[in-house]
Amino acid sequence: MNAAAATRHTHCLRCGRTLRSAKSRTTGYGPKCAAKVRHSPVDTGDYKPHQIVSARELIEDGAIVPLRSVVFIAVSTDGTETYRTAPMACSCPAGLKGTRCYHQLAARMLLAA
Ligand SMILES: [Zn+2]
Ligand SMILES: [Zn+2]
Repeated sequence: MNAAAATRHTHCLRCGRTLRSAKSRTTGYGPKCAAKVRHSPVDTGDYKPHQIVSARELIEDGAIVPLRSVVFIAVSTDGTETYRTAPMACSCPAGLKGTRCYHQLAARMLLAA
């Protein structure tokens, strides 16, 4: 289990309500917000299927959390690093090279939800 998955959230990352179930505390979203985030109407056409899967996992692990307005903190796959992520920019190695990384996709999914 990585550091991100071990995180326990007490309040919904999206609406701020208290989370009651163990599952919600792991993902960081209440049932309604989790459903909205999962069905986010964002256009994923620019991304490869494995990036879309990674973005969804990042969200469901509660490993991308809002920092301020459109900026998020995303935890790296191995849980050792955090990146600053916005819909069009990210401080991860791929993002710094100007590549569209799955962190940016996850940020877009969350903002569109
Ligand atoms: Zn919520
Ligand atoms: Zn990134």
